[in-house]
Amino acid sequence: MSDQRQGLHKGTGVILKRDISPEGNINLLCLLREKGPIWVSLPGGAKGKVRLGGSTEPMIWGEFSLHRSRSRDYLKEVEVKQDFWKLRSMPEALMTSFRWFRLLGDVLLWRQPVDEVLPVLYWSMELLESGSDPIGVDLRFTWRLLNALGIAPSMKNCDYCGADISCGVWRDNGFVCVNCGDGDKKLDLSISILWIFSPQSAIRGKKLSLEARNSILSVKPLLVENFKLLS
Ligand SMILES: [Zn+2]
Repeated sequence: MSDQRQGLHKGTGVILKRDISPEGNINLLCLLREKGPIWVSLPGGAKGKVRLGGSTEPMIWGEFSLHRSRSRDYLKEVEVKQDFWKLRSMPEALMTSFRWFRLLGDVLLWRQPVDEVLPVLYWSMELLESGSDPIGVDLRFTWRLLNALGIAPSMKNCDYCGADISCGVWRDNGFVCVNCGDGDKKLDLSISILWIFSPQSAIRGKKLSLEARNSILSVKPLLVENFKLLS
């Protein structure tokens, strides 16, 4: 793999986090195609010694030119492809994005490529910026991330008997139909299913009623439990 060797290499992806050390060095947690989560350094970057413009902010998508030396990666250049500028002025959408970045930093393995996650993140951010309800987009992102990691619950069929589910009961990290989950709390999954599986264009800019938001908010914490399957 090219990033295991010394020298110049490139990566396409997004900045998830920026830390500035007391010495004024910038360290960026990036999620890059074919590389996975990776820390890259810009020595002296916060002291104005190195100028890369505003391109070391979290949420920046682009092509990163890196130099690898003694097991560290140094940032040489960023060619910004998408800065999600409008999203930065949308408070709820912005908070949602940063929660995703933290989650990705927590659940993804260092230097393990997870290329399926990049389009999930990109297109979820695109929906947020379009004005789609952050609660709905958050559910969509969460399920699609779990799916990319191979640990998403089925939203279509009962885990026990295979019956169709639009109303389900949470059991053993998955949904079962109301017959198999007899006695436990039933959840209407129809709005959640719509927000997870609809084409991008069908929910772009779409808002949710208070009732629909509450329906999604009752489902999402259950999905989040599945991240524990990674540990
Ligand atoms: Zn069943």
